[in-house]
Amino acid sequence: MPGDDLRLGPSRSLRRDEAAARRALLDVTAYDVSLDLASDERTFGSRTVIRFRSQGGPTFVDLKPIAVSSIRLNDAPIDPDLLDRGRLPIATAAGENELVVSATMRFRNDGEGLHRSVDPADGRHYVYGMSFMDAAPSIFACFDQPDLKAPYTLHASAPADWVVVGNAPGVRVATQAGVSEWEFEETQPLSTYFVTLVAGPYHVLTDRHDGIPLGLSARASLAPHLDKDADELFTLTKQCFDEFHRLFGIRYPFGNYHQAFVPEFNAGAMENPGCVTFRDPLVFTSRVTRGLRIQRATTVAHEMAHQWFGNIVTPRWWDDLWLNESFAEYMGNRVTADVTEYADAWSDNSYARRQWGLTADQRPSTHPVAGNGAEDALAALQNFDGISYAKGSAILRQLAASLGDQVFFAGVIDHFTKHRFGNATMHDLFGSWEEAAADAGSVVDLSDFTRNWLLTAGPDRITLDRVNGLILREPPEGRPADRSHTFRVAVHDGDWQTRTVTVTGPRTADAATGDAVLLDPYDDTWAVLLPDPATVQALKTLLPRVTDGGLRAGVWNNLRSAVYNAAVDPADVVDIAAASLPIEDTEDSKRRTQPWLFGWVVPLAPEGSLERLHRAATERLAAQRPGSELQLSALRAAITSSTDAGQLRGWLDAPPAGIDPDLALRWRILTRLATLGAIDRAGLRAAYDAEPTGEARIQLTAALCSLPDAEAKAYAWSVFTGATDLPNYEVEAAAAGMWRGGQEELWAPYVDRYFTDLPGTAAVRSGWVLAEAAEAFFPALSIDERTLAAARALIAEPELDNTIRRRLVDASDDLARKLATRNAFPLQK
Ligand SMILES: [Zn+2]
Repeated sequence: MPGDDLRLGPSRSLRRDEAAARRALLDVTAYDVSLDLASDERTFGSRTVIRFRSQGGPTFVDLKPIAVSSIRLNDAPIDPDLLDRGRLPIATAAGENELVVSATMRFRNDGEGLHRSVDPADGRHYVYGMSFMDAAPSIFACFDQPDLKAPYTLHASAPADWVVVGNAPGVRVATQAGVSEWEFEETQPLSTYFVTLVAGPYHVLTDRHDGIPLGLSARASLAPHLDKDADELFTLTKQCFDEFHRLFGIRYPFGNYHQAFVPEFNAGAMENPGCVTFRDPLVFTSRVTRGLRIQRATTVAHEMAHQWFGNIVTPRWWDDLWLNESFAEYMGNRVTADVTEYADAWSDNSYARRQWGLTADQRPSTHPVAGNGAEDALAALQNFDGISYAKGSAILRQLAASLGDQVFFAGVIDHFTKHRFGNATMHDLFGSWEEAAADAGSVVDLSDFTRNWLLTAGPDRITLDRVNGLILREPPEGRPADRSHTFRVAVHDGDWQTRTVTVTGPRTADAATGDAVLLDPYDDTWAVLLPDPATVQALKTLLPRVTDGGLRAGVWNNLRSAVYNAAVDPADVVDIAAASLPIEDTEDSKRRTQPWLFGWVVPLAPEGSLERLHRAATERLAAQRPGSELQLSALRAAITSSTDAGQLRGWLDAPPAGIDPDLALRWRILTRLATLGAIDRAGLRAAYDAEPTGEARIQLTAALCSLPDAEAKAYAWSVFTGATDLPNYEVEAAAAGMWRGGQEELWAPYVDRYFTDLPGTAAVRSGWVLAEAAEAFFPALSIDERTLAAARALIAEPELDNTIRRRLVDASDDLARKLATRNAFPLQK
């Protein structure tokens, strides 16, 4: 058995050329994986049999164990000491080979590999697999790359009170001495990154639709909440299956469709064939707004779209991850809007996702949608960003509109058919579209579209020149592109009118005039669209009366683009927000307008802005219908902006009529009280002990780190450096508590320490959490040139881990933009 240090050793990320060489050498016939989850709480046994054909010669297998008991290739032993940084060199024979690896692996707490967590609500243990990117070898020995697909047969031993779900249907075959044996059917050919299993005393619900067995599961402590939403989730799933089958004409081929809500999951969800995993905050335990319900619905549809885009046909290498993500994002939004109760999915997408893509596309780290240039798997992980999702979706929406549905889907279906259960590249798909167009009697040359929109990074900037009656288009510096934009313009002149313009050259003499002119408020194209000064002023009185949800979203996207480019005075944005708070009834999740307003705009706005927004929110709170989502949004804004402990305590003890003082709302208030120093550690712990759920534990960590004293900041810092080892969600919570407005003296010493301590975090965490922690702990409130210089100096260090460098590049670009705003609109003293 291993010793106490269960940390995985260093490993190397697979390079594209290495993957190509291994693919040329090998064809994998089958994996047989046996996992023993019952013997130990910190480790599990993993035995893998890989059958493969080889051209003959040396290669390597990927393996990240903490101990190896035996390795045999074609019945001959291999010395486990040959294992070096996650790779075991092997000399394959020409023809059939069999590799058998028995190892002990570590359960992880960072949301990758086999993640194991304990639910504080009842002390029960839960496990799930996340093989994505380069985590599969920490579960089983494998040739870990997307284009070495094979069928899998899984066997698992687990505590008898656990349920085990995998990619293929499985059954419990025996139980003895408190341990059950589970056997699973052979899967369709899968890439390593799809392989999962979800095991624990999960609460499971089942249903059936059109011959497909459906399942839902969540932790036992979430059972009543899953039960409450099961009808909605099953209905969405059925509606989406019907629509995908109608659009693609190709049946879902992976047997069961289980959707597991699992604890401490990093991403929104993962599309494992047959067993999709979702972050379990998507099982709503407290009241949420329609915004979060739409987000969950589009996530459900997005993962279903992946069963075709990604799972039936998989990109050959990660540089084509847009073939997965951009398509799943586009199809997920489209299908949700078309066939579910959430017909407004696109305008919600405008709030929730558009700026994510636009800001990513304006940073120095921007990359083309297609062919992102990822040379190794870890670099590719950093491209799971707003470009691969939001921008890619927007571009595909335009492409589908220009090709027409008939050609768009005929090409896609041809692609799925030709490469079924295999791998393909974007050129294969473009070829299928061109053939489909030819079959429909038209000649389509996609090369211009592809070059300008998919292969050239960066958005055009489109502005209004009222004086000369022009719309101006300017491609990003250093990235010339010839893009034509067709979009609607909303003009207010007495009332709102919409018309369509096409901008082909740098100047289009077609600018309308009115008190307000909004360019592309409905996201018809992809560009940075900036409002002119007259429009900004007019919005202060116009916006509160705009009832069209799409137009309102467009206003905020224009304003956010302007703030991002130092093209609007934050004081004006506060004026507009104060007149319009709460911005929407769909305020939920961090990329939306309120977190941006309080997190980005207020620190740049004149003194007293927070108080103004607070007054506006409390006035609006009093004016809303009790029980409405606007009332909830207004209360949330009022809590975030409150500096009055008495008021906060009043809401805690007696919330306004129509407001349910549920766990999320209570912790929102408690965390604000903690930030203000109006509650102590004992008070926070007592609140936690009264309802010790998984969500409460995360909130407790955030609140403890928010307290305005040195001990709180020192604790948060120990989480950052890894001296205190917390699960992934709590790492992010600690970062949120670390940096609070009004606590400058407490966190100031940590600004320099961030740059000193950041490089060392690569030794204590990896992958997703390494990147998230680097970003979340960045001293974003330290808006000065010194901090920017320190960030740039560290970026220039050649030894810096590349994952960290990427997040630092992005965070320092944000900081540079805030400084640009401050320089353009200095605060009056
Ligand atoms: Zn996806």
